[in-house]
Amino acid sequence: MNLILLGPPGAGKGTQAKRLQDRYGIAQISTGDMLRAEVAAGSPVGREAKAVMESGALVSDDIIIRMLGARIDRPDCAKGFILDGFPRTVPQAEALDRLLAEKRLKLDAVIELQVDDAALVERVAGRFTCKSCGAGYHDRFQPTRVPGVCDACGGREFVRRADDNRETVAARLDAYHRQTAPILPHYQAQGRFFSVDGMAEIDEVTRQIESVLDRLG
Ligand code: AMP
Repeated sequence: MNLILLGPPGAGKGTQAKRLQDRYGIAQISTGDMLRAEVAAGSPVGREAKAVMESGALVSDDIIIRMLGARIDRPDCAKGFILDGFPRTVPQAEALDRLLAEKRLKLDAVIELQVDDAALVERVAGRFTCKSCGAGYHDRFQPTRVPGVCDACGGREFVRRADDNRETVAARLDAYHRQTAPILPHYQAQGRFFSVDGMAEIDEVTRQIESVLDRLG
């Protein structure tokens, strides 16, 4: 099963993609995570992307499309993938169409998580993840059960993204509305496009997504 999760920063794409990965055995492909790994490794791509990411703007389509093409050939995508944070521009959506056609793959569903802009800044500004296992938390909406200790692995070190601050979130939201929202009609026209209420509780959003997928057949 090949899926795209669409939605602004903080909509819950990463959280839901991880759950879908576990339930359906398909690979979560987050271009943001891939870029952060490149930045951490100090690779040429990472050096080029770092400042752009910190400003909240989008990294060039060329870099992203090359990275994604190589990623979906990896063995963990054999049963399918969930694209999280890609495509983010019309040229990326068109490149994905060509890539899928070349590989004789098809999209089973494109799912949009709808969230009010006002909620997004609060969601993004409070989030943090466990340094060891990557489990995601939020200062207010999803704190760890024991303060300072990861529920999932017991880790005691946490990280916050450099771009998860109020100023950068505003720039990221602006990029979403100007550059990413225009791809919605592209997928609406292709069919198999679904919107779910991303303002609902995390478990409820998961239920809504699973009910869309279970009805696909
Ligand atoms: P994310 O983790 O998806 O919020 O992405 C973090 C940052 O990485 C974005 O603000 C962009 O600077 C960059 N990025 C991630 N995915 C893409 C993409 N598909 N196209 C362009 N830039 C991206």
